[in-house]
Amino acid sequence: MALIVQKYGGTSVGSVERIQAVAQRVVTAAQAGQSLVVVVSAMGKSTDQLVSLAHQVSSNPCHREMDMLLSTGEQVSIALLSMAIQELGQPAVSLTGAQVGIVTETAHTRARILTISTDRLQRYLDDGKVVVVAGFQGIAQSDDLEITTLGRGGSDTSAVALAAALNATTCEIYTDVPGILTTDPRIVPDAQLMPNITADEMLELASLGAKVLHPRAVEIARNYGVTLVVRSSWTDDPGTKVISPTPQPRSLDGLELAQAVDAIEVDTHQAKIALLHVPDRPGIAAQLFGNVAAKDLDVDLIIQSIHDGNTNDIAFTVNRDCLERAEAVADAFSRAIPATNMPTYDTSHTAYVLVERQTAKVSIAGAGMIGRPGVAAQMFLALAKANVNIQMISTSEVKVSCAIHLEDCDRAITSLCHTFNIAHSPVPAASTTSSTTFRASSKTENLPPVRGAALDLKQARIAIHAVPDRPGMAARIFEMLAHHHISVDTIIQSQRCRIVNGTPTRDIAFTTAQGEAQSAKALLETIAPELGYDSITVDEAIAKVSIVGTGMIGCPGVAAKMFIALARKKINVQMISTSEIKLSCVVQELDGVKALQTIHNAFSLSRGSTPTLLTSVECP
Ligand code: ADP
Ligand code: ASP
Ligand code: MG
Repeated sequence: MALIVQKYGGTSVGSVERIQAVAQRVVTAAQAGQSLVVVVSAMGKSTDQLVSLAHQVSSNPCHREMDMLLSTGEQVSIALLSMAIQELGQPAVSLTGAQVGIVTETAHTRARILTISTDRLQRYLDDGKVVVVAGFQGIAQSDDLEITTLGRGGSDTSAVALAAALNATTCEIYTDVPGILTTDPRIVPDAQLMPNITADEMLELASLGAKVLHPRAVEIARNYGVTLVVRSSWTDDPGTKVISPTPQPRSLDGLELAQAVDAIEVDTHQAKIALLHVPDRPGIAAQLFGNVAAKDLDVDLIIQSIHDGNTNDIAFTVNRDCLERAEAVADAFSRAIPATNMPTYDTSHTAYVLVERQTAKVSIAGAGMIGRPGVAAQMFLALAKANVNIQMISTSEVKVSCAIHLEDCDRAITSLCHTFNIAHSPVPAASTTSSTTFRASSKTENLPPVRGAALDLKQARIAIHAVPDRPGMAARIFEMLAHHHISVDTIIQSQRCRIVNGTPTRDIAFTTAQGEAQSAKALLETIAPELGYDSITVDEAIAKVSIVGTGMIGCPGVAAKMFIALARKKINVQMISTSEIKLSCVVQELDGVKALQTIHNAFSLSRGSTPTLLTSVECP
């Protein structure tokens, strides 16, 4: 008999009528012969209401008490759903996370699942009962019976973890949209349903703001090969299937504590081009990368960081064989700027190009690093210990890449393999002949360059000015933040080296959750005297817009298309950060929604749209 785990989100159980409708759907499936474990969220917005109550009582509520409070929401919905199912004549029983035996770490409000006991579930299933389980909660691994929660949106993770533990045929996530769409339909009403998406793409989208799935749920599905489907609670349409490659067999012990990093990737054939002092106004990145794309040059990492309020630095890497052509484009571009845009009297601000021929890119990759702020810091520390200076940092939730000098590469890899416990025996990666992965790569062929777009309005940008340019600084900074559980996202290190009091310095900027920005700033201030940087600024009025697609690997022009679309709408790009399958831009908060709509349109992601080509580059 097929065992299905179904999960219903807050809106789907938001009223008595909706609970009854869910009960009807469950009973229909049970009568069709399926064994069912049903995971539910709290009704409607009740978790938000509980959070609001807590903040009325305390400005900084203790995490343990938050878990006591928030876990009650799901206890209401499981009992009501179980009653509604029984009302329809189908035996059912509700269980809290603790009653099931969903054992987690002790970290309140963000616990990871360690193990799930299946005995009690199996007993009820064997008795022909539907088992209704509270999502989002567990019990800490100690004798104290402490209730934990998994983090907001965590019911998806409960459901997929249960499916993995029970070796279920399918995990179906029922929600208030028809499935996974090209972007959030609340912002772009004509977003298009995707019949399927790779787990890699969904992981990026989920961690860049597409809250339709909790990223950790995707991580578990990918690690254990769970068949995962996202569908509408209101229709019988098939929804979206999240496709995972066949996984290596792995133990169910330490379920969510899979190794944080499962691959170290190296590309020794890169070269870096940095344009310093380019004007900070809409259209500059569009024009530059448009010119690069027009020469059919594929760029890999791109980063842009802000400097003195008037000018930016943009750096990118290309395959070394293309360096001369890319450099010619960059040179021509920089020469064109002063004549038209820069104040002629101010020669110190003339744009210029720096080229670093011998560059290597080393990356750590793994879905296990989601929500573990210490992993990037560990990488920086490993590089610092090997005396490797980091030239560029580019991050996503599932990958951190650093551009370093080629001659440091062997030391870097040895140190990283040692730190992350990865076998030091490379196998070639699928994407390019010059890159090496210390594990087989799982690239999916023949996908369009961009599958989806996401907007995150809940981030803040922190800039640390004039950080002395020596190995170990990034390690120290991000290790300290990680130690205080502050997750950072896009990290960007400036290209420009400024001499301050005789010391070469660079700026480091990163984004973090808005709620954590002020504590991050306060923490950074405490180590300022030791590390010797200048000042720290916080900007909360930012938005991050991103595009994701496995097909963008080796596809020139994707970045240019995004920048051109934004430039045409006069949206200024403040920060750029890339990984192989995503490209994110930080823009001002006010432009966020417009930026998402613009890029969604530019990549013809809307229903019924025909592809538009934006390869000719207009000077904005
Ligand atoms: P649930 O309560 O069922 O878990 P959520 O509110 O957590 O539902 O997630 C569903 C919501 O995610 C949708 O209503 C939609 O607004 C939002 N969303 C954001 N990005 C996407 C996307 N790419 N595809 C579908 N929905 C998305
Ligand atoms: N009720 C929890 C929340 O609102 C968990 C969930 O809905 O997934 O975050
Ligand atoms: Mg959700």
